[in-house]
Amino acid sequence: MNYLKLAEALIPDGDLLPPEEYENIYPPRELPKGAEVTRLAPSPTGFIHLGNLFSALADERAAHTSGGVFYLRIEDTDEKRKVEGAVESVIRSLNYFGIKFDEGAEIDSPLNEYGPYYQRQRAKIYRSYVKKLIREGLAYPCFCTAEELDSVREKQTENKETTGYYGAYAKCRNLSEEEIFKNLAAGKPFVIRLKSQGNLENKFVFRDAIKGEITVTENDQDVVILKSDGIPTYHFAHAVDDHFMRTSLVIRGEEWLASLPVHLELHKVLGFRPPRYAHTSSLMKMDGGTKRKLSKRKDPELSLDYYRKAGYFPLAVVKYLMTVLNSNFEEWALKNPEADYRDFKFKIEKMGKSGALFDLDKLNDVSKTEISRLSAEECYNFLNGWVQEFGTEKDKAHFKEKETLLKILSLIMGVNGKKRRKDIERAEQGVKLTEYFFDDTFNPDYSYRYDKDTVNAVLEKFAEVYDVADDNPAWFAKLKTVAGETGFASEMSDFKANPEKFKGNVSDVAEILRIAVTGSSNSPDLCCIMGILGRERSVERLIKAKIK
Ligand code: GLU
Repeated sequence: MNYLKLAEALIPDGDLLPPEEYENIYPPRELPKGAEVTRLAPSPTGFIHLGNLFSALADERAAHTSGGVFYLRIEDTDEKRKVEGAVESVIRSLNYFGIKFDEGAEIDSPLNEYGPYYQRQRAKIYRSYVKKLIREGLAYPCFCTAEELDSVREKQTENKETTGYYGAYAKCRNLSEEEIFKNLAAGKPFVIRLKSQGNLENKFVFRDAIKGEITVTENDQDVVILKSDGIPTYHFAHAVDDHFMRTSLVIRGEEWLASLPVHLELHKVLGFRPPRYAHTSSLMKMDGGTKRKLSKRKDPELSLDYYRKAGYFPLAVVKYLMTVLNSNFEEWALKNPEADYRDFKFKIEKMGKSGALFDLDKLNDVSKTEISRLSAEECYNFLNGWVQEFGTEKDKAHFKEKETLLKILSLIMGVNGKKRRKDIERAEQGVKLTEYFFDDTFNPDYSYRYDKDTVNAVLEKFAEVYDVADDNPAWFAKLKTVAGETGFASEMSDFKANPEKFKGNVSDVAEILRIAVTGSSNSPDLCCIMGILGRERSVERLIKAKIK
């Protein structure tokens, strides 16, 4: 077989660079020793999920804790699965969680020297290498039709044999030069397959950065490397790209372990040293007492949009994922509550070898703690971000009043007090708590525990004396006076001594006012709330709340 002639006939492109040229175009990166180059390499399908974030966080941490580079490559070899806007959505979604790429597709960076970062734009590089393999007798054209391949698969399944194109089933592997050229002259469509040099009898030990030593069986499948449209398959493209983008560590889901033998063989025939591989275990959840994989169909929490829409605090999701990534993170975070999670020494080797349990309850706990640590400004920014995207029109308008909101948030979250509020898991709950401050969302439940005359007397009298300039002691003194005037005990000691002489005590009076002003018997400091509402609106609420 004249392989040179064959290569020219199959890949006639006149404008291809010789493969070696690419070694100069994409030289090894100049990085400190030990620096990892990692990548996220999604297909632009538009669905970005928790597994992607999990992987991206591991990639980003591995790169940035070692002084390396984290880049975005778009694996768009399958045109059919492409969705408009998917790349922007990946970047936006990860950005929301504070994860940023140093270079790559749609990333504005001076570092973009290893692009293009869309596989479809790298066709020439791949074709140059496919041609090289054909020249070396390591790849060949296959003219089998889909029907032929289907019937081979059926036969293999029937015989309980491994399916695929290999050994005696690899019909086109042994076509003569004459047969090939006859098919070409007849215009038959073809793909290019790897002429596998592997043998299933051969096993070898491979060191995965997470799973440790695993035994791998050599590949013997003549996988497709170039499809009939001239675009390579994922397998081939990723090997070429990881080499020329100088990836040092590939972190990907364990579903790719099955393809590892093919990938290692591809690197070998291409003459590339493979990157280190780290196969992450799948995210699992407990379901009725059993552990199962998170599923796109059953579990809305698999989609990243879920966290944005539900209003999770992004840092909480990241910190929770850090606890899943490295089991010693939690202990470190407890010891260093104020520290940035980026100060933690992330280690890829410390990732779990099997099923990482994703527990929404734990995430909720982390979220509560993180939200309780925010300053009023941070809390405002977080809630406002959510409100402007997912909130009601009324809430959107309220959040335009930033100064008022800062006061409200500082009060309801207990920012300046000793006790921080620790029960808010998601933005929506926080936003709900601000609603009674605004008249158009004030929805009171006037469930008083006292009769009409008592309630109305308390409300009227307090409305008369209330002054927005009163500080807390002055406000409280007025409360006591009103209590005394309406049959309640102004002093707790009096009440305790003779409870039967009174309708109740000052706290019962305060409750009446609280229900009137906030619409519920449970609220933060009432004097502060009335201060935020101002005299006019406070008094208006007191009067409106009278029993008719
Ligand atoms: N494009 C592959 C995917 O969509 C990436 C696999 C890898 O990281 O190598 O999952």
